[in-house]
Amino acid sequence: MEKLIITAAITGSRITREITPHIPITPAEIVQSAYECWQAGASIVHIHVRDPRTGQGTQDVEVFRQVVEPLREKTDLILCLTTSGIPGRNLPTDDRIAPVDLLPELASFDAGSINLGGTVFINSPEFLERAAEKMKETGVKPEIEIFDLGMIITSLRMRDQGKLDEPLHFQFVMGTPWGAPATPKSFLHLHEHIPEDSTWSIIGIGKGHLPMSLMALAMGGHIRVGLEDNIYYSKGALAESNAQFVKRIVRISREYGRDIASPDETRQILSLKKR
Ligand code: ZN
Repeated sequence: MEKLIITAAITGSRITREITPHIPITPAEIVQSAYECWQAGASIVHIHVRDPRTGQGTQDVEVFRQVVEPLREKTDLILCLTTSGIPGRNLPTDDRIAPVDLLPELASFDAGSINLGGTVFINSPEFLERAAEKMKETGVKPEIEIFDLGMIITSLRMRDQGKLDEPLHFQFVMGTPWGAPATPKSFLHLHEHIPEDSTWSIIGIGKGHLPMSLMALAMGGHIRVGLEDNIYYSKGALAESNAQFVKRIVRISREYGRDIASPDETRQILSLKKR
């Protein structure tokens, strides 16, 4: 079976120190945590950054640069920069897509709008067009985030219109309280709708993390872990680091008999252009 790609989602934009003391906030903390994940076997890191004054998410390219540059110097990680900004706070499109200027190999592409807590995470047709256009111009591959079936249908339509290039790469977000549940039946239904030559990975939120990860392992898909998606390592026990999650998936995958993809192997699997 194809080697396993592990993505680590280091911090997201919403988890505060009050929620867990282990969340990386400053650029130096994010770099250190990503570095540990790379050493543990992750080949991709999904990066958000925080405003150092408030600890909240920001799309400030200068703060992204403080994370991107050291990681490029110290590691051969594939960087996947977020374009979601602060989901639910709905920043202007230009701010959201600004990190693409740093030319990561991947950038997130949330393929539709969805409720989120008491608010709405808006990914309007206009936003999707602009984001796809900018990624195409810069040669940054969209990581298409799927919370529900309509988002797959939207991305297939954009593919048909020539706005997204094949092979598509999907990241299934399973188990948010507002989207597709983290169950095998729900996942299989979504999976049926993606083109055969696509690559894909799963995020299982909360208690969906291990069941969804094990499905990906068995089905030949890939796995995303990290504090953006899960703050608990096991029931009632906070995860102490992102690398702790990576190490567990590496152990399980080795026992299962599936090797872990290095960053260069991941580039081949995802048809990425090396920077
Ligand atoms: Zn994210």
